[in-house]
Amino acid sequence: MAAQIISGKALAAQIKRRAAEEAAQLKEQGINPCLAVMLVGNDPASEVYVRGKQNDCHECGIESRLVRMGESASQAEVLEQLSLLASDPSVHGVLVQLPLPAHIDEQAVIAAIPPEKDVDGFTPVNVGRLAIGQPCFLPCTPAGCIEMLKAAGAPIEGRRAVVVGRSNIVGKPAALLLLRENATVTVCHSRTKDLAKICAEADILVAAIGKAKFITGGMVKPGAAVIDVGINRGADGRLCGDVDFEAAAEKAAFITPVPGGVGLMTRAMLLCNTVQAARMAAGR
Ligand code: NDP
Repeated sequence: MAAQIISGKALAAQIKRRAAEEAAQLKEQGINPCLAVMLVGNDPASEVYVRGKQNDCHECGIESRLVRMGESASQAEVLEQLSLLASDPSVHGVLVQLPLPAHIDEQAVIAAIPPEKDVDGFTPVNVGRLAIGQPCFLPCTPAGCIEMLKAAGAPIEGRRAVVVGRSNIVGKPAALLLLRENATVTVCHSRTKDLAKICAEADILVAAIGKAKFITGGMVKPGAAVIDVGINRGADGRLCGDVDFEAAAEKAAFITPVPGGVGLMTRAMLLCNTVQAARMAAGR
């Protein structure tokens, strides 16, 4: 079986176009959607991600502001900057680029983002709302995964979904979103026994592990939908996912590529959340 490749390119472009249209409509009403990104320290990967987010905003007519702080910034200083963004009515979305330097308590910083500006969907309030099925900002990566499944026409309701990885930013919210879509969900992690067997039972397999080509062809059920969240450097130095793409594509019905898959969707979903935050702030 040759799998249908669910490209993030076309879908993300479509979502970005919609975000741009909505941003333009808001501007006509005097509301200028604005995303503020806090970058603390000098992590090179974070620099790249932040630049990408700024470019995306620019492309869609969304204002972006960068608050840059040095590696030695104290937690109190970071929280002070955050409170300025929190109380600034011209800022609609606030995002803290992770990881933060080791001396800063990440959870305390995230919790200081006002829920109504939490466009990453990482604050305890939004995570709690997601868990109990209330409206909230959806975390961008898992939301992008669900959009990809839906766009491809891969059935979710009643299907067996297996999420490998239980991080707060990908694995756990991906499981909650699949549950919300009425899948029957299993979450696996580094202590899971019989991982290969559990994966091979999945109609929907989400890989969010952070290990290059960890999911082999033998772990994929024939006809499954495989969503590869991982971004890794393979032994050959090239970007690759957590799934052995070629082997998995032989068996799956649907598969996302890396690069050109979930990563692009993550970026697009952030723009949607920012526009939504601006709309909500304006009471629309
Ligand atoms: P984390 O390191 O926070 O979590 C990895 C998860 O994988 C953990 O729950 C861990 O289990 C599990 N795991 C590790 N080894 C094994 C194993 N041998 N068997 C089963 N489970 C295992 O990573 P993230 O969730 O932040 O990211 C995962 C991947 O997704 C990374 O490659 C990251 O770069 C990528 N990513 C991509 C994004 C995108 O937009 N495409 C966005 C965010 C992340 P345990 O909890 O037991 O340690």
